[in-house]
Amino acid sequence: MASDIEIARAATLKPIAEIGAKLGIPDAALEAYGRTKAKVSADFLASLKDRTDGRLILVTAINPTPAGEGKTTTTVGLGDALARIGKRTAICLREPSLGPCFGMKGGAAGGGRAQVVPMEDINLHFTGDFHAVTAAHNLLAALIDNHLYWGNALGLDPRRITWRRVMDMNDRALRQLVVGLGGPANGVPRETGFDITVASEVMAILCLADDLSDLQRRLGAVVVGARRDRTPVTARDLGADGAMTVLLKDAIKPNLVQTLEGTPAFVHGGPFANIAHGCNSVAATRAALKLADYVVTEAGFGADLGAEKFFDIKCRAAGLSPAAAVLVATVRALKMNGGVAKEALGEENVSAVVRGCANLGRHIENLKQFGVPLVVAVNHFAGDTPAETAAVEAYCADHGVEAVVATHFADGSAGAEVLAGKVATLADGGAAQFSPLYDDDLPLFAKIETVARRIYRADEVIADKAIRDRLHRWEAEGHGRLPVCMAKTQYSFSTDPALRGAPTGHTVPVREVRLAAGAGFVVALCGEIMTMPGLPKVPAATRIGLTDDGLIDGLF
Ligand code: ADP
Ligand code: MG
Repeated sequence: MASDIEIARAATLKPIAEIGAKLGIPDAALEAYGRTKAKVSADFLASLKDRTDGRLILVTAINPTPAGEGKTTTTVGLGDALARIGKRTAICLREPSLGPCFGMKGGAAGGGRAQVVPMEDINLHFTGDFHAVTAAHNLLAALIDNHLYWGNALGLDPRRITWRRVMDMNDRALRQLVVGLGGPANGVPRETGFDITVASEVMAILCLADDLSDLQRRLGAVVVGARRDRTPVTARDLGADGAMTVLLKDAIKPNLVQTLEGTPAFVHGGPFANIAHGCNSVAATRAALKLADYVVTEAGFGADLGAEKFFDIKCRAAGLSPAAAVLVATVRALKMNGGVAKEALGEENVSAVVRGCANLGRHIENLKQFGVPLVVAVNHFAGDTPAETAAVEAYCADHGVEAVVATHFADGSAGAEVLAGKVATLADGGAAQFSPLYDDDLPLFAKIETVARRIYRADEVIADKAIRDRLHRWEAEGHGRLPVCMAKTQYSFSTDPALRGAPTGHTVPVREVRLAAGAGFVVALCGEIMTMPGLPKVPAATRIGLTDDGLIDGLF
């Protein structure tokens, strides 16, 4: 089979106006970026507000292997297959980050015959949204240091400034820095550092904002640090919110592209799935729901993190009500969850698949807790044997859920037609009774405990008194109704990445909590979370270049 990039390059893309027309978007409402990418105008989207929403379908997954289990690929394949069976469909995905493209090989626009295109553009600068987020974030950082330089009227404690800088590149050397060195003319020395752009609170805000005025309100609410008496200082105190909004005024408009089969796809926004909620923008999802009858979207990581945050953070904030969920499993990931080492994944091992199904079973139970009906999609890899896939089907049948083997990676929409039929029936059936896991009123620590007990099946959550005190202070300051954003390993239900399958009896240690008052959540960090990745010893960047005919070589 041809590589992802070969398949993507061989495709003939339709002009973006033709893709927009499939959703009834008039030409005048498309702001084109080249021939095959466009933003959709805010005025047009605002004019749709009284239309009924289509059905929202979440694609999530079991705990993955380090390779990723094909959520994006399945989102695209399912979207194409829904279109194939005559449904008016739109896909919603996150925008990939630039940094990782130069580290490990691999894009984030699907794979095989289930991709969004133009794939190279989407993976690189695309429509500039991430650059806008970077600029808006760093404008605030510049205003902070400038404020210190000009006398610090707000009384910010330089040691308690939490707002760092960002760039969209993997660069570990920037994690810890001292800025302001070189004497009085260069500012006030203090410790700080860089995160990758997708970890910026501005990214999370852009993805949760209703519109430009909500965007500005959220940006203003960002807490950048504290005074000596621990009272918070916000972006609004620094007068930064207006200018940051100006920098983001185009970035908030959803980007429209197409799949290899010409299905409309909104690729918009890309917050981290650990310290943020890991979903595409609310703006894109809302637009898609107004324009299509079926909207297929993806949440990051496994369902313990991605789906939980999709439901408890995004759906709660935006008032969305999903109609169905698709739980992606692969035979490979099930084998790993059943104790097989990565090197041995090539061999048939039905008993390991069966053992690994414990992980699948728990995700099935968890999704049911949110009141969303689901189907399991077995994303078929070339090496999977019939006995292995049959074992997954049998396990699911025993657990009251249908499993469908899908071959969209190899076959495009034809390979996911059966899946699409089931998903449409499920979504149309009206069985969904969505409700988030916990109420807004629950105290913050109790929210963390609820997720840990009911989703991770931990026995207890442990946290230092200092952490509990901080949560209490935020509650006193009026942030108690926010949801929690759990940051832990994606490889296990527990906080230990090596504990696969369906562990019980574990403890969730909360190492640190952070307030994202603009984004509207409280982050609970359970374990080491990297917010500025590094590059591997031999980065993909060393193999990337342009060919004589102007094609990008070595990127994927
Ligand atoms: P996720 O969204 O879960 O991280 P992706 O859909 O991005 O996963 O897929 C991760 C990688 O696995 C991609 O490089 C993709 O091309 C590859 N992949 C996905 N499904 C298959 C499959 N069925 N067979 C082979 N490779 C696949
Ligand atoms: Mg993905």
